[in-house]
Amino acid sequence: MNKPKIVILGAGYGGIITSKKLEKLLKYGEADVTLINKHGYHYITTQLHKTGVGTSSDRQIAMSIPELIDPSKTHFLKATVTYVDHSNQEVHLEGGETVKYDYLLIALGFEGQTFGIPGIKEHAFEIRSFRSSKAIYHHINKQLNLYKEDQDPSRLTFVVAGGGFTGIELLGELADGLPKLCKEHNVPFEKVKIIGIEAAPSVIPFFPKQSVQYTSEVLEKLKIKLITSTKILGCTPDKVILENELEVPTKTLVWSCGVQGNTIVQKWGLSIERGKLAVDPYLRVKNTNNIFSIGDCSLFMKDEHTALAPTAQVALQQAPVCAKNIVASLRGETLTAFEYHHKGSVASIGLSAGVGKVGNVRLSGLIGAFMKLVIEARYLFNLGGPLLIIKQHFGVSSEPVKMTAKQ
Ligand code: FAD
Ligand code: NAD
Repeated sequence: MNKPKIVILGAGYGGIITSKKLEKLLKYGEADVTLINKHGYHYITTQLHKTGVGTSSDRQIAMSIPELIDPSKTHFLKATVTYVDHSNQEVHLEGGETVKYDYLLIALGFEGQTFGIPGIKEHAFEIRSFRSSKAIYHHINKQLNLYKEDQDPSRLTFVVAGGGFTGIELLGELADGLPKLCKEHNVPFEKVKIIGIEAAPSVIPFFPKQSVQYTSEVLEKLKIKLITSTKILGCTPDKVILENELEVPTKTLVWSCGVQGNTIVQKWGLSIERGKLAVDPYLRVKNTNNIFSIGDCSLFMKDEHTALAPTAQVALQQAPVCAKNIVASLRGETLTAFEYHHKGSVASIGLSAGVGKVGNVRLSGLIGAFMKLVIEARYLFNLGGPLLIIKQHFGVSSEPVKMTAKQ
């Protein structure tokens, strides 16, 4: 008899942890599992701001997928998914290849949201993937080099759009990392301007007042200029255009004004709500019984009106339940409803400060920064045990990361 085929699309937080859980739950020979991802590496999305500024080594952020999975249990396919034909139970890949499935998990993550603002797609950078973050790093270095030739001050003006968590993490990292980069390029750091622009009256507007105040003070101490209550209306390669006829001459705008689910899933004829795959309490795409979806490309309603936020925390809690439900489906057993338990949120502001809330406790300062590191270490531990932590942090590295696919 043919073994059931389980296919997982995306090896981000949701996809890779589901495949690791399936390795544990499935009996020997019970099913064939294939994990498909467009890159050969898994990256720590929550640390991509560090890649953008070069404050972390590539080894710490991106790791080879074949080394994270058990190849005797999970088959890894490096390929870009283009289409899911659910009537024929087939996944289509770039290049024309197809892969059959009996059970499918779609965990294809997020895309930046540009709201159709002119010039953003064409000229702004984004922290979306390891590759797109690396592009920021190369661009910064290029600007520092070119400044030495033409002394154009706009080359030393670095603008971050959006004062949500991604924005403040990047601003903090720029303040930490740019002095060293300037030194390497022999450019005076005093001439550098780091600017954060936020449409709301403050950064992290969704957080308690004291945390907002703390964050604004830290950013100011880091000599970051915050422009709040001001919307970005557009950009060109040489400037950012703001409300009230303001303009900021710059060659570097990083857009971090929010995310949406990977839009590719909208074209597959599956149930879509608010632009994402709408899932039932068991994490199955609505109106299907063999297609699951988790993480940022899926929409899970925690009540009638509110959807779960696109966070790693959600994807990581969904993954084990999803693995359990895929196994239960193929065994004809009862499925488990997913319940989300919010553990808190912590954001770094450079290496030595952080802000967050865990339970009812507000965190700030070094403790906040330390907590973010603890959360990351815990993830690495769950992914590959203590060995992976040692490998990532102490340089017992395998091959260097190769970037071949488009972001
Ligand atoms: P992703 O992690 O985005 O993974 C999707 C995978 O699918 C990727 O490997 C991608 O390469 C692959 N893929 C995409 N399209 C294709 C295709 N067509 N074919 C094949 N493969 C494809 N959340 C928190 O909870 N805590 C934090 O501290 C935190 N920090 C963050 C910091 C930053 C700078 C950013 C940008 C986000 C942060 N988030 C944080 C949010 C978190 O990173 C996301 O919610 C999380 O990555 C979602 O996981 P996912 O598995 O759904 O998707
Ligand atoms: P976000 O939606 O949380 O914040 C985007 C910000 O951009 C908002 O404050 C918004 O007012 C602002 N904005 C929107 N349009 C604008 C415009 N035209 N001009 C100026 N400002 C504008 O997005 P994000 O920060 O990218 O976060 C995305 C998701 O990832 C969230 O769910 C977040 O919680 C998660 N995340 C978590 C962490 C963490 O926990 N440490 C870190 C990064 C991201």
